[in-house]
Amino acid sequence: MIPPGATIGILGGGQLGRMLGVAAAQLGYRTHVLAPDRESVAAQTASSLTRADYHDRIVLADFAASCDVVTYEFENIALAPVEWLAQRVPVHPHPRALAQERIAEKRFVESVGGHPARWAAVDSRETLAAAIDAVGTPAVLKTARFGYDGKGQVKLASAADADDAWATIGGPAILEAFVPFDHEFSILIARGADGACVRYDPPHNVHKEAILRTSTLPAPAAVIAQAEEATALALRIAERLDYVGVLACEFFVGADGPVFNEMAPRVHNSGHWTIEGAETSQFENHIRAICGLPLGSTALTGSRVTMENLIGEDAWQPALGEPGAHLHLYGKGAARAGRKMGHVTRVVR
Ligand code: AMP
Repeated sequence: MIPPGATIGILGGGQLGRMLGVAAAQLGYRTHVLAPDRESVAAQTASSLTRADYHDRIVLADFAASCDVVTYEFENIALAPVEWLAQRVPVHPHPRALAQERIAEKRFVESVGGHPARWAAVDSRETLAAAIDAVGTPAVLKTARFGYDGKGQVKLASAADADDAWATIGGPAILEAFVPFDHEFSILIARGADGACVRYDPPHNVHKEAILRTSTLPAPAAVIAQAEEATALALRIAERLDYVGVLACEFFVGADGPVFNEMAPRVHNSGHWTIEGAETSQFENHIRAICGLPLGSTALTGSRVTMENLIGEDAWQPALGEPGAHLHLYGKGAARAGRKMGHVTRVVR
């Protein structure tokens, strides 16, 4: 066990690191954020910040020496520094969980019995044509690496969109069949080093322009009906990776069962509702898991919980006067289109 008072290193300076810092502080841990960004909102809740490039070995050595355990708050981090750190200090989740590449991720998930939408690898305009033949349309062309929140993806209504899609995405990519879903949901689990797992109730997630807008619990019956199979898959993924921490997997409700979309080896936006809506938040359970503490109850604290993201706007004042509403602002300064500024969670007891 890594006892309270110890220092948790966090790679990445965004809002997930910020909320991890709050949960860590509540349990008596110190946090040390390493991030290159000029503005790091995670630093605002951390005990210390090193603003530096992840590849600077002198910085990394100091960081490793100052931390008792290290975690990361985003998966698009270069693998080399995380692996380098893992040789010197415990890193959870283990860097093997950083799939970082959609094709490898789909293959891995298929190997443990998951079902993604039909897909094909694309690395040229010619292979895109072959992929369209194999996958059909409508379809979504996604960059193989470093996409998030809908960035690096474009929809093809028909083969006639192939030129434009390739011009937009270029580079290694994946073509996925467009899933005509009615509902999207996610499965969040936490796994300790001893293999003990807890699972959260599945939120029903609504996206607009590929960015999460709301997560609602309890989810509709169509989601509940597929949650068991999806949770079993998430648990198998975690087991295979010998995973430690919170793992998020996103799904569409498919005609024949849950369709796997993607996984995130970290706390997740669709789990923000757990701060007030579950007995132990995803952030606290992540901290507990990586520090070797027993995991906490994930039971809902109310009969209905809704998390609404505040995206590109500053309309946070009304939530202050609303009974049952809990406002979180991420300290980001100016609102910009598509920028996640905060969220509001509403709990009906
Ligand atoms: P992603 O970054 O891959 O999670 O995509 C962001 C959002 O785009 C998803 O949550 C869906 O709402 C939508 N999306 C992505 N892939 C597909 C797909 N194959 N079929 C339908 N919608 C999709």
